[in-house]
Amino acid sequence: MIWFCMAFIGRTFCSNLLLKQSFATCLLIWLGAVSVTLGSPPDEDRTNQRTSRSSSIRVYRSAHFRLHTDLSEPDARSMLVDMESTLDKVATYWRQPVSGIIDAYIIDDLANWSSRDHLNPMTQLMLQHIGGVTIPIPTPKKREPFRQRALMYAISRPDVVRHEVVHAYCCQTFGYSGPDWYKEGMADTICMLPDKQGSVRCPQEVLDSLQSENVPSVNDIIHGPSFTDPLFETIKRAASLVDGNEQSVVAALPSAWGSAEDEMLRKAKQSYAHSWALCHFLLLNKNYNKRFRQLGHSFLQNAKLTFDQVFSNDRDQLEFEFQLFLQNIAQGYQVGLCRWQWDKPFIVLEPGNHIAILIQAAAGYQPTGCTVEQGGTYSFHTEGTWQISPQGKQLNADGNHHGDGQLAGVILSDYRVTETLLLGQSSHFISKGPGQLHVRCQDRWSEIADNAGFVRLTIKREK
Ligand SMILES: [Zn+2]
Repeated sequence: MIWFCMAFIGRTFCSNLLLKQSFATCLLIWLGAVSVTLGSPPDEDRTNQRTSRSSSIRVYRSAHFRLHTDLSEPDARSMLVDMESTLDKVATYWRQPVSGIIDAYIIDDLANWSSRDHLNPMTQLMLQHIGGVTIPIPTPKKREPFRQRALMYAISRPDVVRHEVVHAYCCQTFGYSGPDWYKEGMADTICMLPDKQGSVRCPQEVLDSLQSENVPSVNDIIHGPSFTDPLFETIKRAASLVDGNEQSVVAALPSAWGSAEDEMLRKAKQSYAHSWALCHFLLLNKNYNKRFRQLGHSFLQNAKLTFDQVFSNDRDQLEFEFQLFLQNIAQGYQVGLCRWQWDKPFIVLEPGNHIAILIQAAAGYQPTGCTVEQGGTYSFHTEGTWQISPQGKQLNADGNHHGDGQLAGVILSDYRVTETLLLGQSSHFISKGPGQLHVRCQDRWSEIADNAGFVRLTIKREK
């Protein structure tokens, strides 16, 4: 039994491949429990015999990788540094150093490779259409300290390589990887999380996909059908048209791929985007990230903990925040700054009473502690100024003439929010319904990180 993972990069029938092409996003697929013969794994002794390989293939070593590649030596060394950096990130997150050395095959140009380099037609087909594949190979217990080796194949695009490094790490260190949404979502999340602030920085195609179609619920994502099985079936069908002759692999592709396959790939891409969004959100939101890590460890150890069990107490809150995340996501969006503060106590103000709180400019909606009642009249007054950009001028809570920097609020009731209430420096309103009042400094969701300052807000119930 073999399970493997693929990194999908798009469709092309050019024999010289998409390996050199730029593609906006990469779709990455893990296929589970399939019985396909991918050929014999490389034997370490053989890989050290240069005469058995194509002349342009070299082997390079780093602390945790044995890299087989047709890249130039400077590019290969640079790639190894990047791979070690990715490995360091995942080992830190899952708190477990990688077991053993990972064999990685990085293909810059398929024309340089042949079956002598352990690249059989099926693997070539996956590299051409998918981009990467990680294959677990069971190992005799006496020979290795771990149950299986990870054989990692990827085209030379850094994001594809990083994605496969995550899978290879999980495969070789834990032996399990969790459901599709977790293994693929986490591999993409780690690849697309380059800065310490956790800003969204991903291919625009992913954001477009998230916002152009039906927005999925958390339930849709975690309980959806496998999105890797249909892709596997497509690859298997395409492979059936290959007769084993290397040259025929490329020739077989046009007839093996049509509009049905394109549609299948479009749906798979969407599932990848959804999985990434959920993992990114749970990894960076302090309301949930500790339990998400606990759940992930359970997945990697093949334990019984489920998502529904872990988030049973605040599932409605999680769903509410996730939907807002999908609604507002953009390059630069920071989940950590936009999380909701659910533990803040709220009170109902009696007429004549007031409360005062500080509202930060560099944050999403913040709880006022005031539960408004239907028909109640409330007045708002702020003191102080804030900035909505580092070089911007100080603004009071009326903001600028575009409305940026204005104090705005929503009323939360039963995990739904009202339309935005523009409060400004001084205002009053009569509440149309009951709920908890949350406010923020109005700014693009992707640009609140560079805001500065705070205002003091006083809310008084007039009657
Ligand atoms: Zn993958």
